[in-house]
Amino acid sequence: LEPDYSFLIRVRVPGGVVNAEQWLQMDQISDEYANSTLKLTTRQAFQFHGVLKGNLKASIQSINKALLDTIAACGDVNRNVMASPHPYSSNVFDQVHDYANKVSDHLTPRTPAYYEIWLDQKKVAEGSQGEVEPLYGPVYLPRKFKIGFTIPPFNDTDVFTQDIGFIAIENNGILKGFNVVAGGGMGTTFGDTETYPRLGTVLGFVKAENTVDVAEKIVLVQKEQGNRKIRKNARLKYTIDRLGVERFKELLHEKLGYKLEAERQYALVRNGDKFGWHQTQSGEWYLGLFVEGGRVKDEKNAKVKSALREIASLNISDFRLSGNQNLILGKIKSENKSKINEILKKYDSLPYTISGSRSNSIACVALNTCSLAFAEAERYLPSLIDKIEHSLKEFNLFKDEIVIRMTGCANGCGRPYVAEIGFIGKGPGRYNLYLGGNFNGTRLNNLYRENANEEEILQELRPILQDYSKNRTDGEYFGDFVIRQKYIQEIVHPKDFKH
Ligand code: SF4
Repeated sequence: LEPDYSFLIRVRVPGGVVNAEQWLQMDQISDEYANSTLKLTTRQAFQFHGVLKGNLKASIQSINKALLDTIAACGDVNRNVMASPHPYSSNVFDQVHDYANKVSDHLTPRTPAYYEIWLDQKKVAEGSQGEVEPLYGPVYLPRKFKIGFTIPPFNDTDVFTQDIGFIAIENNGILKGFNVVAGGGMGTTFGDTETYPRLGTVLGFVKAENTVDVAEKIVLVQKEQGNRKIRKNARLKYTIDRLGVERFKELLHEKLGYKLEAERQYALVRNGDKFGWHQTQSGEWYLGLFVEGGRVKDEKNAKVKSALREIASLNISDFRLSGNQNLILGKIKSENKSKINEILKKYDSLPYTISGSRSNSIACVALNTCSLAFAEAERYLPSLIDKIEHSLKEFNLFKDEIVIRMTGCANGCGRPYVAEIGFIGKGPGRYNLYLGGNFNGTRLNNLYRENANEEEILQELRPILQDYSKNRTDGEYFGDFVIRQKYIQEIVHPKDFKH
């Protein structure tokens, strides 16, 4: 006899786009092998929770039949490549997704082990010496690696939190290339001052046709220069800080054989998602749906999972996972809009009175699924927001958008260190409260109150929200206000980050 082990499976979905049939297959796998829910993650991937050990192989084989896989969804390799999910935002959307897919394909490990272990394919080589891993080599990267593409004016992939961020630069609807950002990362460890969240540094501009090359060469510099002795300092952000940006660029340029051009102008206005119906210039419709905590499930009052299953069964849209744990139904013809509206209404699956804060909230899975969690996040944040909403209503801020994020530990999977209000779990019912990130995800927040319980959190936030309501300037976001009013100081260097 052995314990009844259960597992989490992460499905890689580059750019977050699946078709209706794939959605139905994910839905079915969740019922057959997991806990009947789907988690949409902050990296535009699916997670299945509660998969029993005996069902692992069958689940992965079913995922493969849906033409998806779990390769490099974890481990010291490049992870799921993110890309802006909102097609109506730009004429270069498809081109940007194309480059995200190319980078993803190029950086996917070539090891046949996955196929041998999970898909019963014949073993083709004995031991690691016989396997061909052209990019990663026998020891892979020092640590996990994350890449995201964004299309200004949106920063919906939080491009400054990625190891490599690509900011699309277009001119009259033609994709020119990308500003390349490197060395972002969220993870820290409580009490270890050598760890800190860091925003990526803009290294320069790359022409579109060299995008994959630049991604590969940055990965190679990190492979050679990353810290392989101290795992907690192995991410690219520490490599860049140790070498210095200029030295890092020199090493990159040596590998490239050419230099990145000077950074091009761009402006980012927000990092959340837009909800409701939107139309592209070519006439296709897209519907942004808020999915609280990214959890697709049926509840007594709102049967979101059933509604999405029924929509998928009609095959009238595709499904796009956003990096904010939400969902966009895409490529919808005008004549099918009403069908979708009817189904969503039938299952009561549209949240009608959602506050601006809730619609900008993210919660990682945390307890009781993630073994690293010190505190609740996904199961708790909705009820905490209920209580914060009392103050928001009282101060006429209910509709104002404030980015709120909570994680169960300092690893920061929900990118809490760029939130306007961030909660990091310290222990059961206790959170570090961070304030002062900005609405477009280009500033780190700072520690405002340590180890606070719910009562203390609400007590701390209420007067600040009241002050914000009375004294903000026209259009001023909450994160900017708390810095201007000196509730919190902006972090100048990431090493000043307080745990
Ligand atoms: Fe788990 Fe921590 Fe990541 Fe949340 S932030 S999913 S608790 S590792």
